[in-house]
Amino acid sequence: MLSFDFHQRTRFIAGPGVIGKLGSLAVELSAKRVLIVSDPGVVAAGLYQKGLDSLNKYGLNCLGFHDLHENPSTVDVNAGVLVAKQFQPDLLIGLGGGSSMDCAKGINFVYSCGGRMQDYWGKGKATSEMLPMIAVPTTSGTGSESQSYALISDSQTHVKMACGDPRAACRIALLDPELTLTQPARVTALTGIDALTHALETFVTKDRNAISIAYSRAAWHYLSSSFLKVINDPSNLEARSRMQTGACMAGMAIEASMLGAAHALANPLTARFGIAHGQSVGMMMPAVLKANGNDAAVGELYRSLLADIGINVHAHDAGNTLADWFSGQLKLAGLKVRLSQLDIDPASIQTLGQDAASQWTASFNPVRYAATEMTRLYNSTE
Ligand SMILES: [Zn+2]
Repeated sequence: MLSFDFHQRTRFIAGPGVIGKLGSLAVELSAKRVLIVSDPGVVAAGLYQKGLDSLNKYGLNCLGFHDLHENPSTVDVNAGVLVAKQFQPDLLIGLGGGSSMDCAKGINFVYSCGGRMQDYWGKGKATSEMLPMIAVPTTSGTGSESQSYALISDSQTHVKMACGDPRAACRIALLDPELTLTQPARVTALTGIDALTHALETFVTKDRNAISIAYSRAAWHYLSSSFLKVINDPSNLEARSRMQTGACMAGMAIEASMLGAAHALANPLTARFGIAHGQSVGMMMPAVLKANGNDAAVGELYRSLLADIGINVHAHDAGNTLADWFSGQLKLAGLKVRLSQLDIDPASIQTLGQDAASQWTASFNPVRYAATEMTRLYNSTE
């Protein structure tokens, strides 16, 4: 019997040049004072200005908040909340990659509901309605625009907190592929690989359901067929558009079914060693595909994804075959495939294994791995 509970709260508008609609959409939401959260790289690339130009046409009172970092922390959120308290916005815009969108959501939790970021760690902890928010992603990776979760690191413990509530979902997401044309090649690689892991992990989680499976599979279709195209030809707008839509749909799948062991293994590498999320989750994905593929039901699911891209194998070989395919994408994108290629003290791997096993996201993986198995997965990267 099919069962699910899924409420998509976000209006999605996609197409080249849709950033030009930002001002009229803000007016539709009755905005007068707009706080725009954009990281400094997005400002330097001229993308923040594009959003501002559209908002200025409608005479809106706008203020930019740029004092945030990659993998935003409670320090970044607190700085934004101080700015919001002075400016008193009635609309928030997260314009940038996952860091800008997550930081905007984090600011919204604390500004709208009070307390501190840690109070909202988990699901459904918001205590009141929140400010309306518009997401304008400039990368194709995180899928933050289609989720109610913000990933914020605790600046004291470095733990990545997933803070989600239906009321934190964006009212509108603007998907303009032209905004992704200017990103550095490494960002295209890291974010695209991350989006691919979202499609693969959500497709098999314990909480997978008819809705998440549909979004995971559509995301897989767009991402697997377009990733190398954008790596090899960054100006291919059609492929950029498919990556953006694929990443967004993978985000919808995350909202419906969460993630798995590759993210559980990746988070401690980012927290302890500052390894970029796309690099760490991409590197761990093949090991997880091989291990998960030993489960017959998961092997069958992997077999169906391979069939979608024209590779036909038996279910019991599917985990290994999919892992090889994924490693090939990593290498062609110039990313590392082995833990030994990164600057990580081998003595720390046991501790990393304990960290990984205790990650919330590990509990959604179709196969449960204890700390010793997580350690083995780190050691098995080829
Ligand atoms: Zn991810």
